[in-house]
Amino acid sequence: MNRPRTALLASSIIIVLLVFAPRAFAATPVTCASPASAQPAPTEYFVSLADPAKHLAHVSIRLRDGDGVRTLEMPVWNALYQVRNFAADIEDVRAQDAAGNVVTVFNRKTSEWEISAPPGCVVVSYDIHLDSAGPFGSTLNAEHAFFNWAMALMYSPALRSQTVSLRLLDVPATWELRDLHILGAATPGKVEQNIGIAHNYDELVDSPAEVGIFQQSAFQQDGATYHIVVHGNPADYDMAKLDGVLKKITHAAVDWMQDRPYEEYTFLYHFPAGYGGGGMEHAYGTAIDVSADHLRDGLMPVASVTAHEFFHLWNVKRIRPQSLEPVDYEGEQDTRALWFSEGVTSTVGDMLLARSGLIDEREYLQRVSEEITELQRRPARRWQSAEESSLDAWFEGITFYRSPERSISYYNKGEILGILLDLRIRQLTNGAKSLRDLFQWMNQHYARQHRFFADSAGVEEAAEAVTGQSFSDFFRDYVAGVKEIPYDDYFQFVGLHARVNTTQYATAGFTTKGNLGGQPEVVRIDPNSDAQRLGILVGDHVTKVNGKAADASLDEEMSRLQPGTAIRLELENRRGKREVELRLTAREEQSYELDDVAGVTPQQRSHRSAWIHGDDEAGGVH
Ligand SMILES: [Zn+2]
Repeated sequence: MNRPRTALLASSIIIVLLVFAPRAFAATPVTCASPASAQPAPTEYFVSLADPAKHLAHVSIRLRDGDGVRTLEMPVWNALYQVRNFAADIEDVRAQDAAGNVVTVFNRKTSEWEISAPPGCVVVSYDIHLDSAGPFGSTLNAEHAFFNWAMALMYSPALRSQTVSLRLLDVPATWELRDLHILGAATPGKVEQNIGIAHNYDELVDSPAEVGIFQQSAFQQDGATYHIVVHGNPADYDMAKLDGVLKKITHAAVDWMQDRPYEEYTFLYHFPAGYGGGGMEHAYGTAIDVSADHLRDGLMPVASVTAHEFFHLWNVKRIRPQSLEPVDYEGEQDTRALWFSEGVTSTVGDMLLARSGLIDEREYLQRVSEEITELQRRPARRWQSAEESSLDAWFEGITFYRSPERSISYYNKGEILGILLDLRIRQLTNGAKSLRDLFQWMNQHYARQHRFFADSAGVEEAAEAVTGQSFSDFFRDYVAGVKEIPYDDYFQFVGLHARVNTTQYATAGFTTKGNLGGQPEVVRIDPNSDAQRLGILVGDHVTKVNGKAADASLDEEMSRLQPGTAIRLELENRRGKREVELRLTAREEQSYELDDVAGVTPQQRSHRSAWIHGDDEAGGVH
């Protein structure tokens, strides 16, 4: 590592530039006369990385043909189901025509610009501040760049379905490139030679890129090539072990689906020191952040999020609900399908960990028990359905919305519904059919025919096609409705029942909520607790626990400690960071644990093993 030396060198360069240049950067100018890309596209994007220290990317969009007013839009959301108004990061929008004359740019709406120019070529340029880390963000800094293109590039609504090209300019000489699908890979000094061509804007923005200094590996399996890209400290993980985990997950999934709709797939990881978490699915790869702090005890945190994101290449990227198509970049996109597209992806993700031998039956049942406990502890399960939770995904950025009285999680209830669907299909067919058949059916009838399914009704259709029996009560009561789930009716088939334990457990006096691997945020304070006396507030982020980065499992980790244990927390809010010390106290709460029914039969045990490993059972009744 030579970061200190690089930093010293960079600061001396900046001093020189400040003295001799009017601006601190020198981005390659793009005009109508600039060399064309290999295949001139109606929309050509040029992104200059000349100014990483200020997190500013210089974007030029060349529209080859056009007449009169040309409109460009900036998406207001991408990756997360949250409106984030990326236009707020844009400055200095300007344009010139083929002759190099400045033409009028009018900011008509917050995320819309109109360019009035003579017929022919126009180049629209702007600078954009990219400084949000993680798979749902875009970053440009002195160390590396990571781009989710919908957060950086405007699009022309009139040209959205037509070919686009993308070229990076002014890339630091030591940086290399790897993206998921469009730009491919390039070594240091060659990055600017790569011109990515996408069929359309939607395809381009589904192909985030990493540019910087990173470690790489690759393996061949089941006829495909898998690339692994890691931006992190090589001391924090073992590439050979990561390679081994990914081989298991990818093979288990391809075998389970009996399908491999890609030739190449790329795993793009960031393992940042301190806070970091989350994963984002794409059609030909995934971008995943896991805090290096969580790698110390092994790769299970990486395996869990990877299995979920990898299965998304089918469920949501190809087996896709109609409500998410076409993507509306201009506003919230209402969908009732996330319980299936996210939640049931988690069902399959955990099953794949068991199928590939990364977790055993006991660990799998422990995970299921925790999901049931989480749902049953949220009073909102009695008034918010799985579909309504999907619809309200857009509120997840609002702290009050995340409180247990206001909302359930479509990840959580959806994962449970996936398990119940699987068990019901198995029960109705005596083990001959399962969730596996449901997904293969949806893959055949929707994904491979480039059709989108009708949200919950499409899943119901698939369950009925696989079993030949009605699922209308299931979807009415548990998907659209809020009826309490009779767990034992479902788990009986595999010789289990959900035992309710009333336990005392340790709590820090508050409840937190974090999205899939994210940083925990305080959503509820217990009255008369130490947390209240110490002034911990709803909305505070817990950044560290006893010096270690905190994550979404904070409450669960606390609950495993003894009441009376002293802990040190680092908290962060608008007013800054502070440390507090408090003692855990006892709280009484119900938890659920899947346990053998009395007199469990060998047949129930074999049903159970097939269910946990995602197998169909031979000799069942069709
Ligand atoms: Zn997901």
